[in-house]
Amino acid sequence: MNRRDFNLSLLAAVPALMLRFPQSNAQLRVDGSRLNSHLTELAKFGKTPEGGTNRVAYSDIDQQARQYAMQLMRDAKLEVGVDAAGNIIGRRAGTDAALKPLMIGSHIDSVPQGGSYDGQVGSMSAIEVAQSLADNNVRLKHPLEVIIFQNEEGGTIGSAAISRGLSEKDLNIVTNSKKTIREGIKFIGGDPDRLASIVRKKGDLAGYLELHIEQGGVLYNEKIDIGVVEGIVGINWWEVTIEGFANHAGTTPMNQRHDALLAAAKYIEAVNRVVTSIPGRQVGTVGKIQSFPGAFNVIPGKVATSLELRDLDSTKVETLFEKTMVEVRRIETETGTKFDFKQVNGSKPALTDTRFRQTIDESAKQLGLTTKALPSGAGHDAQEIADICPVGMIFVPSRDGISHSPREFSKPEDIANGANVLLQSLLRLDGKLG
Ligand SMILES: [Zn+2]
Repeated sequence: MNRRDFNLSLLAAVPALMLRFPQSNAQLRVDGSRLNSHLTELAKFGKTPEGGTNRVAYSDIDQQARQYAMQLMRDAKLEVGVDAAGNIIGRRAGTDAALKPLMIGSHIDSVPQGGSYDGQVGSMSAIEVAQSLADNNVRLKHPLEVIIFQNEEGGTIGSAAISRGLSEKDLNIVTNSKKTIREGIKFIGGDPDRLASIVRKKGDLAGYLELHIEQGGVLYNEKIDIGVVEGIVGINWWEVTIEGFANHAGTTPMNQRHDALLAAAKYIEAVNRVVTSIPGRQVGTVGKIQSFPGAFNVIPGKVATSLELRDLDSTKVETLFEKTMVEVRRIETETGTKFDFKQVNGSKPALTDTRFRQTIDESAKQLGLTTKALPSGAGHDAQEIADICPVGMIFVPSRDGISHSPREFSKPEDIANGANVLLQSLLRLDGKLG
């Protein structure tokens, strides 16, 4: 072997050496400035004069942003494809072909006139994690899937397509882009006729991890770096109708009225009192109200209103509903009215996996970050995926707890911290999970 050949053989040995002796995984970090510059680039797709993002699913802007994300995935050495529902999936094989994939990701569609962080932080961070693994020649045991779910804001459509499938009714929903979901799926490169092929069963995935902005003010107000999400609260909705009796407002004495709006006023106050009467983080809201016939001189004969209760624990929601009913029966007697509650489509609570929570907490602490366990009051793709595999969610602080607004903001260093927790949690889970 001459000197030149010797040098060449050394060069050839380098990748093998790196594979055999990877730098200790615990020392691996994402490139925070690269990640934040990708977020700045992404925010240009649909930037509004107020500094937010208007990128509703299936719009031209959404499609352009998706192309940008796919290019980043290719740069991160992922094999990129669009599934039948239009979800973008970047794949890299693991070293153990017998293992099921570990999935990380989020969404890049926004609400109308939304912010530049919701979903986007988790999506760009997942790609950054893949890029960092590639840069350091670290290959997971598990296959890796980086996913950008389509149309999260329209009701977690892309993740639902994977976890339970979409119904005809879902496909016919007209979205903010003015396209139906069926038309939207075709527009972004999916195939609504092949949706059955992408539904995954329990056990098809080893796990799913999602980084997201908190969209509330707990971490920001308490100056905590990382939220370890305990689960996504169930959302319970009721349409409430109050029947009274419409009558002349001038001639009907006060003690002979059946005023539905007065009953509604007492009801709204009662809901607030019931929800705050027991310890915990449950929330309850009466968010809409309409009075009939709605005139100066007619005692309201009918009111259409609502009830929303959210908590991680369904039993607690049942208890709150029962306590509300006790108040309602009293108000009916007091006001001579009749209440009717009709439950409408809500969602059940989705708990994160204990091992995933512990892993996220350990990873954050090892990075020198403070943590707090908290529920998510907002819905996420992770709640759909929780039906088919263990999931974990990582939150980073939202300034002033503002979200779904152009004023949504998370600090670049908080985002980099979140991405490092995502990277470290992924590496640890890759080692722990079968
Ligand atoms: Zn989101």
